[in-house]
Amino acid sequence: MAKHKTHYEDCDILVVGGGMAGTGATFEARHWGRDMKIICVEKANIDRSGAVAQGLYAINCYMGMQWDENQPEDHVRYARNDLMGMVREDLGYDMARHVDSTVHMFDEWGLPMMKNEETGRYLREGKWQIMIHGESYKPIVAEAAKKSADKIYNRIMITHLLMDESQENRVGGAVGFNMRTGDFHVFRAKTVIVAAGGASHIFKPRAVGEGMGRTWYAPWSNGSAYALPIAAGAKMTQMENRIVLCRFKDGYGPVGAYFLHLKTYTQNANGENYEKKWYDQTKELVGEYIDHHPTPTCLRNHAFIQETMAGGGPIHMVTTEAFQDPHLETVGWENFLGMTVGQAVVWASQNIDPKYTNPELTTSEPYVMGSHATCSGAWVSGPEDLSPPEYFWGYNRMLTIDGLFGAGDTVGGSAHKFSSGSFTEGRLAAKAAVKYIEDKKAEGLKVSDKQCEDFKTKVYKPLETYTVAQNEITGGTVSPSYISPIQGLQRLQRIMDEYVGGIATNYMTNANMLKRGLELLAWLEEDLENVGAEDYHQLMRAWELKHRALTSQCVTEHTMFREETRWPGYYYRGDHMKLDDDNWHCLTVSRRDPKNGKFSMEKVPVYHIVDENEKKKVS
Ligand SMILES: Cc1cc2nc3c(=O)[nH]c(=O)nc-3n(C[C@H](O)[C@H](O)[C@H](O)COP(=O)(O)OP(=O)(O)OC[C@H]3O[C@@H](n4cnc5c(N)ncnc54)[C@H](O)[C@@H]3O)c2cc1C
Repeated sequence: MAKHKTHYEDCDILVVGGGMAGTGATFEARHWGRDMKIICVEKANIDRSGAVAQGLYAINCYMGMQWDENQPEDHVRYARNDLMGMVREDLGYDMARHVDSTVHMFDEWGLPMMKNEETGRYLREGKWQIMIHGESYKPIVAEAAKKSADKIYNRIMITHLLMDESQENRVGGAVGFNMRTGDFHVFRAKTVIVAAGGASHIFKPRAVGEGMGRTWYAPWSNGSAYALPIAAGAKMTQMENRIVLCRFKDGYGPVGAYFLHLKTYTQNANGENYEKKWYDQTKELVGEYIDHHPTPTCLRNHAFIQETMAGGGPIHMVTTEAFQDPHLETVGWENFLGMTVGQAVVWASQNIDPKYTNPELTTSEPYVMGSHATCSGAWVSGPEDLSPPEYFWGYNRMLTIDGLFGAGDTVGGSAHKFSSGSFTEGRLAAKAAVKYIEDKKAEGLKVSDKQCEDFKTKVYKPLETYTVAQNEITGGTVSPSYISPIQGLQRLQRIMDEYVGGIATNYMTNANMLKRGLELLAWLEEDLENVGAEDYHQLMRAWELKHRALTSQCVTEHTMFREETRWPGYYYRGDHMKLDDDNWHCLTVSRRDPKNGKFSMEKVPVYHIVDENEKKKVS
């Protein structure tokens, strides 16, 4: 252990993850905390890290309040509708009222925005989306963070949160290791903002073998945003609300610009509009929700899945009409070049020219996230002026652990934030974190050397395990006394896939399968004590896996708790196939007891803050 040098850093605000939310938090922390010490720690390199690493072609969340294109209330209605009623409206409203100012800063910082030549306004792709030339989106926001932070640490993976030993339930910082040097880093911090992105690769992906790693959500998003707070005993919400995406097959190329800007549409193998075929059946399951406009994303997935199961596949996107227009053809290709180059390569390899051949679509494996079209994540306090008492405990975006804040994919209940909304939420969290420190809530923190040393032993254990166990390798990587991170990952993915509603079962699960899934996850957890790592890169893989496994337990517990099928098309509870507003028009909240690893679950009311006189059902 001695060979791993330990570095100590004391700071006021520690931002974990330098993606969209993390760069927003780092930037805003400096605005309010002029004299504070602000550190951002990133697993990769903030210039090209996180879900936006490759760039984006659209900013998916912009109100356009100055032109009255939309107001925050409209966005709340939209997100509520898409999530079948289940959102934290206080958080959504709060993000929406600030998001335009974020986008205007991006514009000032040099992000190339497309303009509508007639109106001079930002060019709309859809009601909420505006189009950008976004290949350099991430380096631009990273620059703002770099100029704001006292220090940015790249290539350090945070593995655990530190807890204050003088006051219960208060955060004291975080620890991690540098993947290049192998050094151990202790960050003692008055506040921690977790902004570590969503979780891919917890369910078995469609692309395995030679295609492994090709997922829709960034493959490097490993659920640290959830595992770090879960392990420390923070409450989580809506973790069952995993997302399944309808995307171009194999490359997972985005479809938003195609639907919204190119006005392409889908059809089954016989050239039929299959969605309307499933209207009556869907109405049986979810009632009037199928009549909402726009049709909730999960219900459109549902029609896709049902049609495919009934033998109507493959499902195609009709591009051959739009692509006859040279301008739209260019937009169609550029859409991939700024964001998912791989899709163009897949089409080339499969001899698909979308001008003459309608490309195939698919539904993805499930992912867990809080910033895109679903809202899994931490249970946080809302803003003082909007939140009902059950949603407010002093500081905006603070988790149920004092001094611990979240933003972006980390925060549950507030879907449809996307890149701009995640950056905005980072700003909101940072402002509140500064206030928390100014209010002297972080006085007298105590983080002992013992706590840090204990974590250090834990963090490097996979290296020790490998050093010893490699002597017992019987062939290749097979050893009776350790498992490698990839073996553990594949085992995790299979459990989640087959028992918790992945692609193997067409997203179907039930209480018996979930119970079995939980048993298998518990044994996996035991075996992960013996995960081995031959180098620092594999050590990162080992800790990514542990974070994924803990996130998966939480997802499974939540899926078990909600005894209804709220989002057909995302997953199905075969034993409770219908949406049940009488009993489940509520948010689910969990807490894992750090002492014994047991989860407890509760229902929390959904408060409709916008249009509060409308149907107000709480269970
Ligand atoms: C394929 C795809 C397409 C999208 N398209 C659009 C779009 O067109 N328009 C739009 O507006 N939005 C889009 N989004 C959504 C947008 O990218 C996300 O909403 C946003 O990036 C979420 O911000 P975040 O900070 O929570 O996560 P991220 O931006 O992913 O950042 C998380 C950061 O944490 C780091 N990290 C993770 N774990 C650790 C750890 N343990 N220690 C240290 N650092 C860690 C990661 O390396 C990463 O840098 C898309 C997302 C994806 C995946």
